Formats: sequence, structure tokens, C-alpha cells
Amino acid sequence: MHLDLNATELLLLMIALNLVMFAIGWLVATFALTHNIVTLRCFLAFNAILALALVLMALRGPVATPVMRIVPNLLLLAAVAVLTRGIYAFWSAYLPSVRFYLPVALAVAAIVWFGAIVEHDATRVAAVVLATVWLIGGLIWHTYDPTREEFGLPAAVAISATGVLVFVVMCWRSTLALLTSLPSNLNEPSAGSEFGLYLVLLVVTAPNLMYANFVAIRIMRRSELAAKSDGLTGLLNHRAFMERADAHWSMRHGEQIVGAAIAIDLDYFKRINDEHGHTAGDEVLRSFAEILSRTFDESHIVGRTGGEEFIIIRSPASRESVSLLVDSLMRRVSRARWTARDTGEIRLTVSVGVALDLPTDFRPNDLLWRADQALYAAKTQGRNRVVYA
Ligand code: GH3
Ligand code: MG
Ligand code: MG
Repeated sequence: MHLDLNATELLLLMIALNLVMFAIGWLVATFALTHNIVTLRCFLAFNAILALALVLMALRGPVATPVMRIVPNLLLLAAVAVLTRGIYAFWSAYLPSVRFYLPVALAVAAIVWFGAIVEHDATRVAAVVLATVWLIGGLIWHTYDPTREEFGLPAAVAISATGVLVFVVMCWRSTLALLTSLPSNLNEPSAGSEFGLYLVLLVVTAPNLMYANFVAIRIMRRSELAAKSDGLTGLLNHRAFMERADAHWSMRHGEQIVGAAIAIDLDYFKRINDEHGHTAGDEVLRSFAEILSRTFDESHIVGRTGGEEFIIIRSPASRESVSLLVDSLMRRVSRARWTARDTGEIRLTVSVGVALDLPTDFRPNDLLWRADQALYAAKTQGRNRVVYA
């Protein structure tokens, strides 16, 4: 078979090849990673569908049949719709409603109408362009804030700028197609078409690369977090707690800042498990951790250091400020109620040991040891109480 391709058609094929490469990359990623699988699949499908659309466009020739006119346009729209679906899935809270896709449905009708029934290439292309602009515009609108929150301002600006670039290129092309004699088909040779194609290459490459980075950064951060936090409560696990305590200690060293350690153990927790079941016990542990997070703000180091044992480090701390917090914790715990399905109401009490750090404390362990001794005293004195070392 001999293909007589002009420069723009060749360019289209090269961009399609580029997209196939991206598609293979995302295919590998969907096998290798289970994280954000919907997003990965959507990027895979986006590149593959778009590549197919561009190949068909390159091969459709100057006198296209209605099918060859319509199908690449529909594929192009489908690719963009799949892309937006994937990006919304990445920011799972921002799924747009069905209504959002209504203009796309109208565009599909227009593409079919102006491609097969009333043949008018410029209007058909304008319909593709307007629907794309609508989808990309919605994306920028909905994902700017979450992108900035998770990845920072430069990332949010860069990804939005890419979207705006798509906007401008698309509007510019459709206006030219409608108002001038510029060919509306991408594969008809003209300076405008080639320039447009380079921009197409840029705008499909940019989101691919950026989202590949986003996915990688997110996976890295989450696995870091998973290694440091306790799976049940989300608090720091024992190792991470000790690391934070050590770091805090060396920063504070020599500054004469008084800190405090608060050691907590849930009372008769084995009994709660025995009477209400392990699942109910887990639920109590989870909500107790929530109470801790509500009571001790971000300036505290809060860890689950054992099964039903927790430690908090606070700095700086006067005895008054610590006792205010601990009293509020005891009040919250005494008010808390849980209902197990078959075994009824669960109540909880806790024993607390508090130690303020001394000039003779050389390591966090010195402080923690005294807090633990105070906790032990609280247990032996009858539980449900606070003892100060
Ligand atoms: P005390 O007042 O002396 O602290 O009595 P206790 O029963 O709380 O203490 P003990 O150390 O004898 O038992 C701790 C219990 O905590 C035993 C264990 O089954 C339970 N536990 C530890 N980790 C978990 C957990 O992750 N989930 C649940 N449901 N229970 C846990
Ligand atoms: Mg206990
Ligand atoms: Mg215990």
C-alpha cells in the first residue's frame, strides 16, 4: 500500500505515535499500581482514543465520506470526555453532575448533523471545539483549588495555564474555520494547520507529564504517611512518635522550654473487647483517637504507642495549661457513649499520667518514663484519674 501523505498528515501521524507511547506508559502504570486506578485507565484510554482519532484524520483524505468526517470528531470528543473523567476521579470529591455533560451531547448531535445530513465542515468543527472548551474549562474551574492545596501554587498555575492554552488554540482555530477560508480539517495543508498541530502536541503532552508526576508524588507521600501512621487511628505509630519526640527534643535542647508528656491507658479495655467484641473495641479506639485529636491541636505530638496506650508531648507547657487540656479530655471521655449492636451501651474511662520535663531530663525517654510511672500510679489508685509526676 502506498500512502501519499503531505507534511501535515505526517505530523498528525507522528503526534498519534507520541500518544500511543503515552498510552503504553499508562497501560504499564495501570498494571503496576493500584492507586487511582480510574485515573490511570482514563489517561490510557484518552491517549489511545485520541491517537486513533488522529490516525483516521490523517488518512481521511481531501474527499471524505460522511463516516470518515464524523468518526474522528466523535473520537476526539470521547477522548477529552474520558480525560476529564479521569482527572475528576483523581480529585474524587469533584465529580460533575450529568447536566455538566449536556453541552457535549448537543455537540455530538451537531457533529452528526453537520457531518452527514447538512454537510458543513466549519460548523461541525466548531461544535467539537466548543464542547472541548466546555469540558476543559470545567476541569480548570473545579480542580484549581484542590491542585493548589495538594501540590502548591506553581503546579496549579501550570496546569491551568495549559488548559487556557487549549482554550485559546481551540477558539482561534474554530473562529478561523468559521470566518475565513482556512480549511477546517486538521490534515489539509496550510501554515495554520501545522502551527495548530504543534500546539495540539504541546497540550496533549503537558497534562500527561504533569499528571504522571502528580500520581507519582501522591503515591510517594501516601506511602510515607502509611509507614508513619497507625492503621486503625491514623495517629503516629510508636516508631514515628519516638522519631518526632527525638527531633522535638533536639530542637528544644538548651532553650529552657518546659514541655510535658501525657501518658494515657484505657481502663479495663480487655473487658470491653470480651463483652462487646473486638470490632466494637476497634471502634472505641478510633473514636478515642478522634477525641484526642480534638483536644490536642497540631502543636502536640500525639502517638498510639501501644494497643490501648497513647502518649502526647506538649511544648511549652505550664502545669496549668496541661491540666486544663487533660481535664477537658477527661470530660469528653466521660460524656462519650458507644452502642454495640447486641450488647448495648459502652462507656469508657482512662487513666492518665502527666510529667513536666526537668532540667535533669537528658532524653525524651527520661520524661516519658516519669509519665509512665505516674500512669502506673493512676492505675493502682483505682483508675479513671489523672496523676502528676
Ligand atoms: P487496665 O485497666 O489495667 O489497663 O486493663 P486493660 O484490660 O485495659 O489492660 P490489658 O493490658 O490487660 O489489656 C489491654 C487490652 O487491649 C488487651 C487487648 O486485647 C486490647 N487491645 C490492644 N490493641 C487492640 C486493638 O487494636 N483493638 C482492640 N479491639 N483491642 C485491642
Ligand atoms: Mg488498659
Ligand atoms: Mg495497656
